[in-house]
Amino acid sequence: MGELDTAAVLVWMHAATAAVAAHEAELTALDTAIGDGDHGTNLRRGFAAASLAAEDAAAAGTDPGPFLIAVGGALISSVGGAAGPLYGTVLRTAGKALEGPTADTAALAVALGAGLDALRRLGGAEVGDKTMVDAFAPAVDALRAAGDLPLAEAARLAADAAEEGMRSTTPLRARKGRASYLGDRSIGHQDPGATSTALVFRALAESLT
Ligand code: ADP
Ligand code: MG
Ligand code: MG
Repeated sequence: MGELDTAAVLVWMHAATAAVAAHEAELTALDTAIGDGDHGTNLRRGFAAASLAAEDAAAAGTDPGPFLIAVGGALISSVGGAAGPLYGTVLRTAGKALEGPTADTAALAVALGAGLDALRRLGGAEVGDKTMVDAFAPAVDALRAAGDLPLAEAARLAADAAEEGMRSTTPLRARKGRASYLGDRSIGHQDPGATSTALVFRALAESLT
């Protein structure tokens, strides 16, 4: 598939929702180690609501941009923890950067790059702070570097980069979010938000094959 249309974004959202549900226990276990143990539950609920909003938007014939704005809004309003508003803001901002009925690799890189900037502004985290930014930023870098590759191939590279970023969080000391309260005791645990971010990028890659 060369371009992302609304039907493809809907398939991505369903794949992300299924991946988060399948990994709920793992995400919760990671968050139990260095947070408050609700990341799996938060995201399962949030993505389920996002999927319903996505179906409504797709049925209404919405373009990918406004579609992502609607999905992001559903995430923000259905999740109490830090990650819901952060994910929701990413999708809303990405949606605002998308124009027209389809997006190619370069357009998706621009949109998710804008989403990453909004995530950084809202959460104040940079790469190395042991948050979802550690998986998100390398995935966006990979998409940018893949500028003229077919979307499915670019998405695979982005998912690989997100997973590498996710694994890179284990030796880090958390500097943002609840895990930062643990100081050095956060070292040696993989960040839950970076883990769910890697799932969302892998879901994109798998939904395009
Ligand atoms: P909460 O910590 O409010 O219970 P979640 O458990 O749903 O929220 O999400 C925790 C994840 O959110 C962390 O693993 C981290 O990746 C991400 N996170 C927390 N605070 C920030 C922040 N300020 N910037 C970016 N990501 C953050
Ligand atoms: Mg939590
Ligand atoms: Mg919480």
